Amino acid sequence: MEKAPINWTNMWLFSLTPALAILLVPLYGFYFGYDLFEWVVLLLMMGFCGMSITAGYHRLWSHKTYKAHPAVRLILAVGGACALQNNILCWASDHRRHHQHVDNNDKDPYSAGRGFWFSHIGWILRHYPSGKTDLSNVKDLRNDPIVMWQHRNYLTLVLATNIGLPALIGLIHGDIIASLLLAGLLRLVLSQHVTYFINSLAHMWGRQPYSDQSSARDNGLLALITYGEGYHNYHHTFQWDYRNGVKWWHYDPTKWMIGGLSFIGLTSDLKRCSVAQIEKARIDYQYRTATERCELLNIPEKWRLRLEQEYEDLQQTLELWTEHRQAWRELKEKQLHETLAHWDSLQIRDTYKEVQFKLKVQKKRWQFMLGNIGDFSAVPN
Ligand SMILES: [Zn+2]
Ligand SMILES: [Zn+2]
Repeated sequence: MEKAPINWTNMWLFSLTPALAILLVPLYGFYFGYDLFEWVVLLLMMGFCGMSITAGYHRLWSHKTYKAHPAVRLILAVGGACALQNNILCWASDHRRHHQHVDNNDKDPYSAGRGFWFSHIGWILRHYPSGKTDLSNVKDLRNDPIVMWQHRNYLTLVLATNIGLPALIGLIHGDIIASLLLAGLLRLVLSQHVTYFINSLAHMWGRQPYSDQSSARDNGLLALITYGEGYHNYHHTFQWDYRNGVKWWHYDPTKWMIGGLSFIGLTSDLKRCSVAQIEKARIDYQYRTATERCELLNIPEKWRLRLEQEYEDLQQTLELWTEHRQAWRELKEKQLHETLAHWDSLQIRDTYKEVQFKLKVQKKRWQFMLGNIGDFSAVPN
């Protein structure tokens, strides 16, 4: 099959920048050295570019998981240009197509089905039909004046942030070349590959706790270097949630930043999936894969029915828990304003705690069953 024509601008850019970084950064370091300040600026600028992509390009503009004050949008648009990953309109358009046609090799611009290299960077280096620009899916973003301002001034912003800003910092600090090499060149190469890992590794390496409908994976290690985007299986299952790491202890600095800004009114309408929705998705998926395994292993019908019964019971308890949790929350809210009759309040709290305990026990039993499929000695009927 004939190969797609080469995108020479990108080919030069993505070959020259890493080659120059590998050659010049150690060479200059060897002869002249870098100081702590210059390394700190490199890290800060990496964070600025990275979070502008994750919080801005990705969770704000591509998925509209929250709303942001114009000042925040402006900073994220500038940081996105600094990351040199195309303008917001094109990035969001590609990304929405990625979600819509995930793993479809003809329609997903960076389908992981075409291998690590293609999904990581190969898709940018040639004019593939799957990567053809079609902005019809981002019409809504044209209403955002900051998106359009960035679109019109993209090249100027790229040059100002990638060359102008490091040069200015270097001028003030006393070594322009060192600053251009670390905060300019090395930062650019590192921050680009960090994002590309989300398209490549996050679709290949890790667990699938919520769904196997796409190749997306959850990977806590990847989250450490991608500002929280490593929880990609969750993200592909619940793309409207502003969080990717859904547990409070999941490393997701992007979620913390968006949440933190909401306290001072700079972000609002943060969309979150409820705990019950997430649990339901996980249990449904586990039940489906367990029944498939039962069929594959020819597990007796009796045991399968036992599994089905346990699944239905668990679903019921989950629904009950959701109702009682809601009642308990409303009660707590009311108690802030008025004193509720003590007896009623105790009853609501105790019933909620009882259902919560029941759910915990059932979830343990469910996990035990999943770990002992078809074993009548472990799970009697
Ligand atoms: Zn996404
Ligand atoms: Zn993805």
